[in-house]
Amino acid sequence: MTVHAMRRPRIKPEHRAYRTVDGHVRIGSVVHGIGAEVKDPDGWVWTLVRAMDGTRAAADVVAEVSGRHPELRLAAPDIVQAMTDLTDAGYVEDAGAPPPAELSERERERHSRGMTLMRWMDLRPRSSPWDPQVLLRRARVLLVGAGGTGSAAARDLVASGVGRLHCVEPDVVELSNLNRQTLFGERDVGRPKIDAVLAALRALNAGTEVTGERREVRGPADLEDLLTGAAGADGAPGYDALLLAADRPATIRRWANQVCLASGTPWAEAGYRGPLVSVGVFTPGRGACWQCLRDAEIERRDLRLAPGQDEDVASPRMPWNPANAVTAGLSGGLLAHAALMLLCGVPPVEPGCRFGLNLMVPGDPVLQRSPRRPDCPACRPAEPDPAPAQRSGSGGRGPS
Ligand SMILES: [Zn+2]
Repeated sequence: MTVHAMRRPRIKPEHRAYRTVDGHVRIGSVVHGIGAEVKDPDGWVWTLVRAMDGTRAAADVVAEVSGRHPELRLAAPDIVQAMTDLTDAGYVEDAGAPPPAELSERERERHSRGMTLMRWMDLRPRSSPWDPQVLLRRARVLLVGAGGTGSAAARDLVASGVGRLHCVEPDVVELSNLNRQTLFGERDVGRPKIDAVLAALRALNAGTEVTGERREVRGPADLEDLLTGAAGADGAPGYDALLLAADRPATIRRWANQVCLASGTPWAEAGYRGPLVSVGVFTPGRGACWQCLRDAEIERRDLRLAPGQDEDVASPRMPWNPANAVTAGLSGGLLAHAALMLLCGVPPVEPGCRFGLNLMVPGDPVLQRSPRRPDCPACRPAEPDPAPAQRSGSGGRGPS
């Protein structure tokens, strides 16, 4: 999207500029990661951002700026370049863009606040501020696990307007779930969770196509089967993202990594470990895979274990997973947020990382990021085959 393709370029309302005490132009809000400061010794950048108020075509903005600063003899290409820089940085939208045909008036009313939040966090030039919402509307998501994290993630994604969500969960609602699994009520106790989840989600937003099945994942083949189960409107199988919110069996994350690498499916997994809540976000072929990140973290942390000592002694596994509605809600919220990142590119965070928070120490973030590891047993590219003719079968597909 170039500034000249826009009917009426406008600085996004959430990115409105102001002038600092020393005459610089600050734009994009004061939020770290979005805002920027532009030097403006002659004052014309300030005129420019004020002229980009959505009432003029790009050519008229240029005329307005050069007309107000005749003494500077500004060249039109320089003004256009400044507008282009602002557009490329994500601060500009087209005030004349028509509403997208894919979203009904009712949907636009429903998601009007979400659209403005996405617009605020979005740093890509778009033809319409509704583009990320349209991407979400088109998306097909597979959610495995609808307990504490999963039911909260499902609620947040369906409320946000995801197009299609398929939920997989084997368990029955128990009284001891109700302290954290807030999609369920007392009258759901004894009912299959999947039935209660589907009823709650359909009541929340009839615009999302919510489906589900009562099923347990017992191996990578089950995940593979689930991932290829959907057929989109175009007839193509698969999902745009997998969200993993199950922690049983213990190897399920490893399976998800393996299956998503093979199918090229972006995925995320979230959970809590006591006061630590985090989400991992992965896209095959872009950055670290789950295994890369895990191996890097094991190398990084110094548990001061004796040689040969099992690391479980430092981080004991209990038959229960301590949690309440707060940790489950945060974890599910982070998982839904990761899905928005993967599906809409908002905010534009590179995958291959884990982030979250430590409730014990406000301001102490959980952050793991590592480059892709060339020796990773999971995502390492296949060795060049010296004699491909002698091999039979296609073998596993690596990430592209
Ligand atoms: Zn890897």
